Amino acid sequence: MPTAAIKPDDSAQSIAAPTWMTRPVPTVKRLTLPILNAVETEPSTQCPQCHAMTTNTALIFNSYVCPHCDYHLGMAARDRLHGFFDQVEQELGQAFSTGDPLQFVDSQPYPERLAQAQAKTKETEGLVVMQGLLRDMLVIACAFDFRFMGGSMGSVVGDRFVQAAETALQQRMPLVCFATSGGARMQEGLLSLMQMARTGAAIERLRLACVPYIVVLTNPVYGGVTASLAMLGDIHLAEPKAMIGFAGKRVIEQTVREVLDEPFQRAEYLLEHGVIDQVVHRHQLNDTIYRLLAKLMHH
Ligand SMILES: [Zn+2]
Repeated sequence: MPTAAIKPDDSAQSIAAPTWMTRPVPTVKRLTLPILNAVETEPSTQCPQCHAMTTNTALIFNSYVCPHCDYHLGMAARDRLHGFFDQVEQELGQAFSTGDPLQFVDSQPYPERLAQAQAKTKETEGLVVMQGLLRDMLVIACAFDFRFMGGSMGSVVGDRFVQAAETALQQRMPLVCFATSGGARMQEGLLSLMQMARTGAAIERLRLACVPYIVVLTNPVYGGVTASLAMLGDIHLAEPKAMIGFAGKRVIEQTVREVLDEPFQRAEYLLEHGVIDQVVHRHQLNDTIYRLLAKLMHH
């Protein structure tokens, strides 16, 4: 028996065809509203690498990592520490306040510059120190704020770091430093350079007492901070593609008269050359630091 040829079902067509209810009436204008997506209605940030717009809420939930290209955006020190700790117990070093020992004036007086930075960042200085719990372990962590005069290291940054290290030493708590800085603060001249020696001595005391000190290098770390506390850790972690160096690329190019190619001074390049121990994605940082500290502290 021959099978009957399947006739195309015309019922779907009849449903799709406009009926007298759905047929547009030429004389009636339909009001069409533009469909706005979230980045047009909410406060958003543009990624410096892929230029995609992401809402600030989405960025905060993603720890300031671009969801489109994985670029690690800069973080405020306070956000960094609140993201790091499971529970903050106290903030250290707030008693120190910045003076103007050299009466320094460049294009504007130093106190004015400080006041601007304080108003912009709502911080009193470029380093924030907190003590708290990372899971079940008490840790002291400090974070530089690059928005505060380029995260530069002045006397108060040194004071706060040394106090953090001394508290870590007394309480036998590990110390973690999230470094991002342009270097020493020129407005404090030699006094800011002295902080390199002071912080170095404090770290040495930690080393002698076998208290672990871990440095997380975040984009960018340069100058006096690289030359002191950021390179004296027991373990050096870095965020992907972070720029880490002493002098900037352009300065070195002018000195050695060679063109330096792109991976130069990137975290991955430094890992290949043995300067740092591991490049860790921001989402894995807390787990990695906890694992390392648990091993080092025999926790
Ligand atoms: Zn991006």
